Amino acid sequence: MAQKLNRSKSCIDILIIYTGGTIGMIQDHKTGELKPINFDQIKEEVPEIRKFDYNIDVVSFNPVLDSSDMQPDHWVKMADLIQKNYNNYHGFVILHGSDTLAYTASALSFMLENLAKPVIITGSQLPVGEIRTDAKENLITSIEIAATRINNKPAVPEVCVYFDYLLFRGNRVTKMNSSKFEAFQSVNFPPLAEAGVHLKFNTHLMAKINSKKLKVYKSLDPAIGVIRLFPGMTHQWFKAQIRTKGIKALVLETFGSGNAPSAGWFIDELQNALKAGLVVVNITQCPGGTVEQGRYTTSSKLAKMGVIGGADLTSEAAITKLMFLMGQKMKVAEIKKLMTTSLRGELTP
Ligand code: ASP
Repeated sequence: MAQKLNRSKSCIDILIIYTGGTIGMIQDHKTGELKPINFDQIKEEVPEIRKFDYNIDVVSFNPVLDSSDMQPDHWVKMADLIQKNYNNYHGFVILHGSDTLAYTASALSFMLENLAKPVIITGSQLPVGEIRTDAKENLITSIEIAATRINNKPAVPEVCVYFDYLLFRGNRVTKMNSSKFEAFQSVNFPPLAEAGVHLKFNTHLMAKINSKKLKVYKSLDPAIGVIRLFPGMTHQWFKAQIRTKGIKALVLETFGSGNAPSAGWFIDELQNALKAGLVVVNITQCPGGTVEQGRYTTSSKLAKMGVIGGADLTSEAAITKLMFLMGQKMKVAEIKKLMTTSLRGELTP
């Protein structure tokens, strides 16, 4: 049940979905550990929310989570909450721990097709009760962005991440810093908005609103593996990973523009896995840039074997996109095709 947080005469309605995270954590006096608490504490610490000229409701996860415990089922719960409340609100703000926030943002972007309303995900690096907290600004501006309309249409009709004065496309971000307030970056795609004295929206970059009905996909298949290559990786270790029973897709985090070792054992293991039907997506372990299979001899072989070039997908987007596509029970050929197609602006084709 949604709790009423603010009432006003305005006809803008915002729903906050509180999942947990540092934003709502408090320090345990005995152990010194940060633990999530309920939304009431946030409400007390941010009285500014009551000054908004919007109707704001809150629905809370129970229990609230440190986002390290976030699982695909929680993404389904968020998507379900958005679907059930879609017609009653102009925008949604999700409060989330920063640790896995980029995965949630990517997953939700795929799960919510034809989205025509803002879903702004935010959190903070310091709990809301701390004097130097970044929680207040992140929360207040996220609400403001979710409520902003241009020509009577939502300014941001997509799943986004707002953190430290910048709004990013959700499936383009990565948590890059565990201590700075500037925790997230979207290296391969510019910010969708900047918050300074004014909110400056880069409207030309924003997803286009279409008139189709919101479609929510709730089936995700987590039978994925991720292998990050490193010099010195042994055959024994690689074999154990790639031959893991039940894995249907692999995200291979390669060097530079998509390069991998040319050792015979590596190529043979990969070839056998591909022949057995494993979907392998090549993404770069560099924080920015794109995979170009065929640029070097060390990546040409991969392309010839049938490894999919993941272009400039983040690791978070590659993993969640595979879970999403595999959840739709698609044929391998279709998954391969869609992995190189931009579905929600997640890659530069
Ligand atoms: N461990 C916390 C979480 O992700 C960190 C944070 O919120 O910044 O829930």
